[in-house]
Amino acid sequence: MKTRTKVVVIGGGIAGCSTLYHLTQEGWSDVMLLERDELTSGTTWHSAAQVTNFGMTQTMVGLKSHSIKLYQELANDPEYPINYHHGDGGIRLANTEAQLDGYRHFASMARGMGVEFEVIDAAECARRHPLIATDGLLGGLWDPMDGDIDPAQLCQALARRARKAGAEVHRHTPVTALRQLKDDTWEVETPKGTIHADIVVNAGGYRVNEVGAMMGVHHPVASMEHQYFLTEEIPAIKDLDHRVPLLRCPISDYYSRQEKNGLLVGFYEQDCKTWGMDGIDPKFVNALCPDDLDRVTDVLEGAFERMPALMEVGIHTVVNGPITYTIDGAPLVGPIPGKRNAYCIIGLRAGLGEGGGHGWLLAQQIVHGEACYDTWVIDPRRFTTHGNVELTALKAIEDYQNEFRFHFPHEHRPAGRPIKTTPLTPVLAAGGAEFGVVNGWERVEYIKPTPEFEETLGFRFNETHDVIAAEVAAVQTGVGLTEVNGFNRFEITGADAHDFLDRMFCGHVTRKKGRVGLGYLLNEQGMLKSEATVANLPAGNASSARIWYGSAAASEFHDMDWLAAHIGDKEDVTIRSLTNDWTILVLAGPKARDVLAAVARGDWSAEAFPWLSVREAFVGIAPAMVMAVSFSGELAYEIHVPNAQLYAAYLALRQAGDTHGLRLFGSRAVDSMRLEKGFLHWKSEILTEFDPFETGLGRFVKMEKRAFIGKAALEARLAAGPSKRLVTLAVDCTDRWAQPGASVMLGDAVVGTVTSGDWGHRTGLNLAMAFVDPEQSTVSTQVEIDMLGTRYPAEVIPAGPYDPDFGRVRA
Ligand SMILES: Cc1cc2nc3c(=O)[nH]c(=O)nc-3n(C[C@H](O)[C@H](O)[C@H](O)COP(=O)(O)OP(=O)(O)OC[C@H]3O[C@@H](n4cnc5c(N)ncnc54)[C@H](O)[C@@H]3O)c2cc1C
Repeated sequence: MKTRTKVVVIGGGIAGCSTLYHLTQEGWSDVMLLERDELTSGTTWHSAAQVTNFGMTQTMVGLKSHSIKLYQELANDPEYPINYHHGDGGIRLANTEAQLDGYRHFASMARGMGVEFEVIDAAECARRHPLIATDGLLGGLWDPMDGDIDPAQLCQALARRARKAGAEVHRHTPVTALRQLKDDTWEVETPKGTIHADIVVNAGGYRVNEVGAMMGVHHPVASMEHQYFLTEEIPAIKDLDHRVPLLRCPISDYYSRQEKNGLLVGFYEQDCKTWGMDGIDPKFVNALCPDDLDRVTDVLEGAFERMPALMEVGIHTVVNGPITYTIDGAPLVGPIPGKRNAYCIIGLRAGLGEGGGHGWLLAQQIVHGEACYDTWVIDPRRFTTHGNVELTALKAIEDYQNEFRFHFPHEHRPAGRPIKTTPLTPVLAAGGAEFGVVNGWERVEYIKPTPEFEETLGFRFNETHDVIAAEVAAVQTGVGLTEVNGFNRFEITGADAHDFLDRMFCGHVTRKKGRVGLGYLLNEQGMLKSEATVANLPAGNASSARIWYGSAAASEFHDMDWLAAHIGDKEDVTIRSLTNDWTILVLAGPKARDVLAAVARGDWSAEAFPWLSVREAFVGIAPAMVMAVSFSGELAYEIHVPNAQLYAAYLALRQAGDTHGLRLFGSRAVDSMRLEKGFLHWKSEILTEFDPFETGLGRFVKMEKRAFIGKAALEARLAAGPSKRLVTLAVDCTDRWAQPGASVMLGDAVVGTVTSGDWGHRTGLNLAMAFVDPEQSTVSTQVEIDMLGTRYPAEVIPAGPYDPDFGRVRA
């Protein structure tokens, strides 16, 4: 075993084997995999190993397509063919119109990734899957690429190819300790000796947190027990001339696939069980949990009713094994927050189907710093301080119980809430606030018109439409107040702070005291990494610079790691997170200045405190940092207040606001208004797949600057021309909005993908933003958007149709 290597991958299940193989594919052969026992001896060996193409985002669909393509190639390798039943097809069932709407949307979204799903009715479901009864069934989503694979053969095939490319694989080699050295490389300790590695990868499966503990981190991953059984031969299957398609049932929470001439049926019971919460027996190897079919009786019945043939055959094997879950059901694939040269590929609950794709995207990140798709949906940094053991377990249980029930738009499930609140949360709740969850924070979505008000979740406009309209009208004509908690806020100080930021941002960073600017950070490929406001705090606060860097709530770990990694050894720059200590109260509307002036001493006129200014002040008796910035497009102030004084500031503003008819509003009104202004959202429009010019942010780039991260790559991209362009579209439709991911069509060709959509209450327009082919990006171009299976005409319009001259924010 060599003692020096570039990468050590810890764990030889599908996650580790796929990562190792793809590292060699990306050109790194000096890599090794260490497995404590035999390859696949964790969860992988007993997996039901179904491989599906379905995903709820384009990244998930894309990575699964990669798995399918790779597995097909491996299956056809004459030197080492493996068993892969490819293209049996599969059906996700539906018994409500809202579920079918979801499938129609996912079909529209997948088309943009070259994948054709089909929404079929109940009779067609039964025609394609002859074993099912159609009682109570409305239809389903047909996924033609579904199949299943031999998990052990798959891993052996990947390891074999990796070895051939120069990688080493060492079985019976447990990693027992990890030490990070001063130069950020790692010492990896094993009973066979210590290895010095540049980079380590945690692919430890259900032992994820044993490996995590060696690095001093806790990963938000919990294991659940999960069971399936195999039946005896079913005559109806034996007589078929094709394999039975896979079945996934969100009504009764089971799945099935063909196994020999019988069925494999797996269950997601409500009475489910976490596993290994208090530690895992070191001898749990190639092992299963005890059978417990009593636990699944609630869902068994539904499976038997849908497939009556099950009642006529015996069960010959039960498999019950640990399966990992995260807080939101998607795995953690990418850099480990707070660590250097450390990555993970963990929390895989559908690792056989997805593992090929996850290993591919991870290897790209390790070798190139970024993958071909924006990987935020699987990024380990998307959960921040709230990802503790107990919350993770609660969310894992909830997710397991809802395995095939996708989230509807605006759906925020109840487990583990509230986990992050401010002193205002109960006050706003008493005022009728309906909350959503943003990075764990309870964020006001809208104010319920009556205590009994309840939203019907779905993909079409519903009873909240008028509620949001009224909130927008209040902000447009009078004044509104809302809380924005969890907004990411770093204080950056030090003599070199400005020079440092100048290098990090691709545009001009204001050095003027008392001014606020918006800017963009690129990665080395010249693509968009982050968006942040830089507030240059007024003179007298500190001897050198004192800057507030503000970005999206979920970006805290992501941005901190990126910034911290780029501080030079000799640079005097300190970054301190204030994210959890301060909260923003947003005062917006033409009367916002009157309300602010009534509670805060000083001259707040447009001349003394113009748009994009920042100033310290007292709001009533609460100290505050006030910024004249607006995400709504109305005159607005962001009032940043320490959490301890938040209630005091709120009371002062409400009392002063009473005489001006101040109303509370929420994030849904803001979402609608920001689209009308053409303002972008991080990870909706600001993606690592596009550069700032493609995203319409050219005015924020200063190519003449001496140096900034990504400049050389951006120059090359500029010379090559854009691959897509972000546009705003007005859609000719009144009963639904364009969902993120929906396909923009020209004839039968997909020419773009929607990133955001909403009704613009001030403009009366149904608005969408989308990345489209450059040829379709000029104003007045006519296209169509596939919205829930129906194509609606849409026209490219100038970005930000509301108050395009920004007169209202400057008023
Ligand atoms: C009953 C059941 C059915 C399933 N059905 C499907 C399905 O149909 N389709 C699907 O896609 N997925 C399915 N899954 C999920 C899928 O099996 C898992 O997502 C996948 O196997 C996880 O792979 P992994 O590599 O992350 O973990 P594992 O397979 O557990 O591999 C982790 C490896 O790390 C090793 N390791 C741990 N600690 C150390 C250490 N300190 N040093 C060295 N090595 C270490 C372990 O020994 C182990 O081999 C199912 C799971 C279960 C339980």
